[in-house]
This record gives sequence, structure tokens and C-alpha cells, in this order.
Amino acid sequence: MTDLSWEQKADDFSLYGFTDLPSVHDRGAVVVTHGEGPYIFDTKGRKYLDANSGLWNMVAGFDHKGLIEAAQAQYARFPGYHAFFGRMSDQTVLLSEKLIEVSPYDRGRVFYTNSGSEANDTMVKTLWFLHAAEGKPQRRKILTRVNAYHGVTAVSASMTGKPYNSVFGLPLPGFIHLTCPHYWRFGQDGETEEQFTARLAAELEATIIKEGPDTIAAFFAEPVMGAGGVIPPSKGYFQAIAPILKKYDIPLISDEVICGFGRTGNTWGCETYDFMPDAIISSKNLTAGFFPMGAVILGPELADRVQAAAEAIEEFPHGFTASGHPVGCAIALKAIDVVMNEGLADNVNRLSPRLEAGLAQIAQNPNIGELRGVGYMWALEAVKDRATKTPFDGSLSVSERIANTCTDMGLICRPLGQSIVLCPPFILTEPQMDEMFEKLEKALKKVFAEVA
Ligand SMILES: *Cc1c(COP(=O)(O)O)cnc(C)c1O
Repeated sequence: MTDLSWEQKADDFSLYGFTDLPSVHDRGAVVVTHGEGPYIFDTKGRKYLDANSGLWNMVAGFDHKGLIEAAQAQYARFPGYHAFFGRMSDQTVLLSEKLIEVSPYDRGRVFYTNSGSEANDTMVKTLWFLHAAEGKPQRRKILTRVNAYHGVTAVSASMTGKPYNSVFGLPLPGFIHLTCPHYWRFGQDGETEEQFTARLAAELEATIIKEGPDTIAAFFAEPVMGAGGVIPPSKGYFQAIAPILKKYDIPLISDEVICGFGRTGNTWGCETYDFMPDAIISSKNLTAGFFPMGAVILGPELADRVQAAAEAIEEFPHGFTASGHPVGCAIALKAIDVVMNEGLADNVNRLSPRLEAGLAQIAQNPNIGELRGVGYMWALEAVKDRATKTPFDGSLSVSERIANTCTDMGLICRPLGQSIVLCPPFILTEPQMDEMFEKLEKALKKVFAEVA
């Protein structure tokens, strides 16, 4: 051990992921020691309101007693096991039953991973396996959207529609990105939102025909795009695309890693946007961030077909060492109960109008071009000119500056492109929400005064 500062040690020994390096070298990492409710504390004793729930996931805050006790009890009882060779923990069995019960399906099957990326990866492999088993090995192409975020493994990064993946030589071939359903940014002059949606639906069908319907494995979508900038779908989007996918027998997979378990005001984002996916991808809130875990939830039709394909070769040759980890499953069972039955989901429903109204007030600032979101996930997009939607010059790093200014004021929020993301934990009280509004508004005014 050296006597370097925490910041220096972090800087010397970490390969930082998704971190603005000039900014972290300059400011030092925030080294976090513990949390209380929605607040985190660092090695300097500073206190921050985390308006991003960690990374969208710590919806019950950072010290929830019931979740800690559930973890401790399971560690004392049975601290680890796998789910291979016909063995799995009792908690794993209980969680699968629970996930089907709370899913939109009356029956189905669940497969566990350690992350959302692995869950998407698993879903793609499962579909490649299924199509090959059904005599269509050429059905391998994956359709997603520009600005989609599906994770960072080679496959899930290929599904992600962000330019930064080009530094890895990704996407892999066969991953196709359709237009992002963000009307404010991508709608054309004179185009209504309905016409915009219709254009995107037509693009989907034209792409399917061009590629060949028999070459496409699936279409994946987040109900609300999260890491792409909190982008709710344009009006009628899922109603327009679902029938096209059905027509060509292409599975629709809902990536609910952020939206699942209450973030949009319902248990699932597909409920909020009224569509029925063929399978659901879950992670993040699944354990309220208390354990790394993801799940693929297959609806009845895919469950039957995948099961039949596995029976035919007597095995589904896939699994992670920690798939269905008993501690993760015990925590997830508790987290589902906490979110659904301890008033957390109710808080989102009761207080999201208040959250929206407070942010709408802040969005009157002429340098905010758009406020968008639903439930407890929102973004404010900064613009140089609201009328023309002209962004600030990238070299000004406006959103990083806003986030850094917020951090200095004791508020954590995240820059995403030119937007600032607010996705607070579901336990946020009304005074804590007001604290968030006050600090955010102050930070925005300060930064816009500097860059205007
Ligand atoms: C975070 C996220 C993922 C990836 O999950 P990891 O646990 O970080 O691998 C996938 N899809 C969506 C929608 C996400 O927000």
C-alpha cells in the first residue's frame, strides 16, 4: 500500500471505462465509500444526491435494510451454486416462477446471466440456435436502432447503435441499425409525428424485404431508449412496427434492462407502450443493483420452440458459471417484492407528475431544447438555439460541464451527448426531489452563462 491519495491511486491503477479522461485527470475520481437512501458519500466526506440511481439500477437506494438482510440470510444459508447438469438452487427455482408470474406471459421459461449485455448475447445465441434447429440457419441478422444501447459484449455492442463502437471494429456483420424513433431530432421539416412513425415503419418493412425476411433472426428494442439519451418512442411506434414483424415471423424482443420493474410507471415498458414482445431481457432493477444479474424471459411460444430444439439434441449448450446464483436470486425475489409491494412502484406513479412538472419548469431555460421522458426517466437536451435545435459546439463539452457543476454542488447526474439524464431512485422523497431541482437549475444557469 502506498500513501498516495485516493484520487491518485484511482488514476494510477484503473483502466477507467466510459469516463471522460481529461475531466477525471483534472478533477480526480469520486471515490465512494457508502450510501444512505438516495445519497452517496466519498472519501472526502462529501455527500451527493445520486439522481441517476447509480447506473439506473439502485432504485431502492444504497442501504435498503430488507435487501441487505435478504443477501446476508442467503449467504449464511447457501452462498453460491451453479445451474448446470440438472442442479440449481431453490432460490433460482423460486425466482423463475416469480418472474413468469410478474411477466406479461401466462407461462414461459427463464435463463439467467450476470449482466444485461450477457442477457442480450444469450438471447441472440438462443435465436441463432432456434432458427438453425428449425432448418433456417441463415436467419442470423439482428435488427436494432441507431442510438439503441444493448450492452458491451461483442454481440450486444454490435446491437448498440452508437458510433463509439467503431474503435473496436464493431458492429459485427449482420447487425443492422434502423432509424432512431426520436421525432424531435429526426423528424423532417413539415413531417407530423404520425408521418414520422409511418416512415420508420415503412423503412423497417423495406429493410426486411431488401435483406430477405428469411435472413433475419430478430428485432430488439428498448421500450424507451435509455443510454441513447432517454428517448421515448414516437407516437404509435410499436403499434406500427409489431404487425410488420409478425407478418414476416420476426421475433420482437423487448430489452427491459432499464424499463423493467417500474421505471416507466408500470412493471414493464411494453405495458406502458402497449405491445407484447416475444421475450423480455431484464437486469439492472432486477436486483435493485444489489447483485450483478440478468435474465432472459421467454414468452410461451419461444419457450416451447426453444425447449423443443434443445430436447432434439438433448441439451441447450449454454450457461455461465454464476447463472442463477442463489444469493442473486434471493436478492431479486426480495427486490421484486420491495418494488412492487413496499410502495416504490407507487411512488413512481404518484410522484412522476411532480417530477415532470419540476423539470418542465427548469426546461423553460432557453438553452434547453427538449425535455423528454416518462415515469422516473428523463433527459434535458441542451441547445445553443432552441428554434433551430442547433447544438452547442462539441468542444464546449456543455453536458459534461453541467454534470461536473452539479457534482460540485452535491448532485450526481449524467451527461449523455448534449443531454443531462435524471433517473432518480424510486425512494426519492419530495424534499429530496426539490433539492435535485434546485441544484440542477443553479448548475444549468451557471454553465449556460459561461458558454452563451
Ligand atoms: C445497461 C443496459 C444493458 C447492459 O447491461 P450491463 O449489465 O451493463 O451489461 C443492456 N440493455 C440496456 C437497455 C441497458 O440499459
